[in-house]
Amino acid sequence: MADNGLIELLQKLVAIPSVNPALADDPAIGTEAPLAEFLSSFLNTRGFRVEWHEITKGRPNVVGRFGPTNPKRSLLIESHLDTQGIHGMIVPPFVGEVRDGRLYGRGACDTKGPMAAALWALAPNLLERLATAGVELVYVGAVGEEKGNFGAEQLVALGIGADEALILEPTELAIVHAHKGTLWYEVEALGRAAHGSNPQHGVNAIRGMARVIEAIEDEIRGATETHTDKFLGRPTVNIGVIRGGSSINIVPDRCVVEVDRRTVPGEDNAAILNNIRSALARLTADEMLTGWNLSSIKEGVPFSTPVETRLVQRLSRACKESGASGRTEGAGWYSDAGPFAKTCKEVAVFGPGSILQAHTVDEYIELSSLQQGSEILRQFLLDLADEVKGAT
Ligand SMILES: [Zn+2]
Repeated sequence: MADNGLIELLQKLVAIPSVNPALADDPAIGTEAPLAEFLSSFLNTRGFRVEWHEITKGRPNVVGRFGPTNPKRSLLIESHLDTQGIHGMIVPPFVGEVRDGRLYGRGACDTKGPMAAALWALAPNLLERLATAGVELVYVGAVGEEKGNFGAEQLVALGIGADEALILEPTELAIVHAHKGTLWYEVEALGRAAHGSNPQHGVNAIRGMARVIEAIEDEIRGATETHTDKFLGRPTVNIGVIRGGSSINIVPDRCVVEVDRRTVPGEDNAAILNNIRSALARLTADEMLTGWNLSSIKEGVPFSTPVETRLVQRLSRACKESGASGRTEGAGWYSDAGPFAKTCKEVAVFGPGSILQAHTVDEYIELSSLQQGSEILRQFLLDLADEVKGAT
């Protein structure tokens, strides 16, 4: 079980709907603003200096700072404010019902559980201890993680960062110190329409696309030979969507694919896209296509923090002290750690709850994991204060 205060805090967070606006039919629940209000007042009460960065109207990012303005060390703790939608949920999404040692509701595990665990750890005496040691703590609540990480990107564009960053996500208390990047792109292959009885008069865009797909496969084959990462393994590719053709008896003049390429550190998105562009140009010269377009849909950089860094080592020690394994791992999924790796020297993703429970119709978090996560974060912060104090 968990402290009643911690459970109540998570229930309050779950009771404030904050569905990503792109994932909500009802605008009353599809807004992060009320949760941003709650977080701001929580941080204010704890003595944080709170700023709002409302770069997109109605979607405020919250940044709270505690401690010296000219610190010896800074730590950024971030949780996204938005959740998945509630369509099809079989538990009340905004109640925070407690049953059988679990707390149910949208966001209970992704990522209001980890957020509650961290906020609960921020006791006034611990904050004072950190500040006295010379640590500035920056708590960030970012909008828009579930659809493109754009809140984190907005904050990174403003230069908000720190020496160390903990990104709160349900990792089952594993320390995710690296994850892959994403490169989503679209290829449009163009041909020339003709009647199906005279295909020699046309250029079949679907046939052309078959060759483009071969080029996409060639690209990933080459990449896996040159860029396999120690923690993240191989880069991958998935062609998730194909659209083309209008009728069985017409030579199609257009075919489109949407491609999900996952990258590892050291890969260059521009080089990947250029590789595909060259293939498209070749196929056009060979008259397999009459033209083509290639566009990037979304790009996120991978990150990798060495296991030997202070951040990962300290977190690992705090885990072990509480009986958790403190294991380190790389992940194939993407998070706000990608953007924040640009402005934070050492980054890890961490939190109670399981990613398997994120986005589900009966989302929940185990209360024992919630409690343990909060204790680990508290110990981690205590150790940070001691480490920085000792370094003087
Ligand atoms: Zn999340």
